[in-house]
Amino acid sequence: MTLGRWLTKSPIATFFGVLFCLLAMPVLLPLGMIAHVRSQRRLKTLVGKLPCVNCGALLGGEALRIADERWAKEVQQRQAASPGSIVGRMIRRVHAVCPHCDCEYTYFEKENMLMRKDLVVA
Ligand SMILES: [Zn+2]
Repeated sequence: MTLGRWLTKSPIATFFGVLFCLLAMPVLLPLGMIAHVRSQRRLKTLVGKLPCVNCGALLGGEALRIADERWAKEVQQRQAASPGSIVGRMIRRVHAVCPHCDCEYTYFEKENMLMRKDLVVA
């Protein structure tokens, strides 16, 4: 039996995997929350100084609010379409929307940059 197969099939490995996750949770959860807040702050700073590539107007915080509303509506529609079932993983593609021309942007966290959604290759 290979190590990979043992890790996925063995009840002992599953037990220790679950135990590790439970013990690491008090450390991993705050780290995840800090990383999320930091990412949101970087995005907010970025849209605060970036002009829209389509119309030239400053994106600003309003662009984030519009994108958040659209995302919330999309999630709500997805959940309403399949009530009572678990919604599969959803990947957010729109992180900012120009309040003046409705141009949508995708945020790349690692590069800390925004790109027009229609130019992003999925
Ligand atoms: Zn615009």
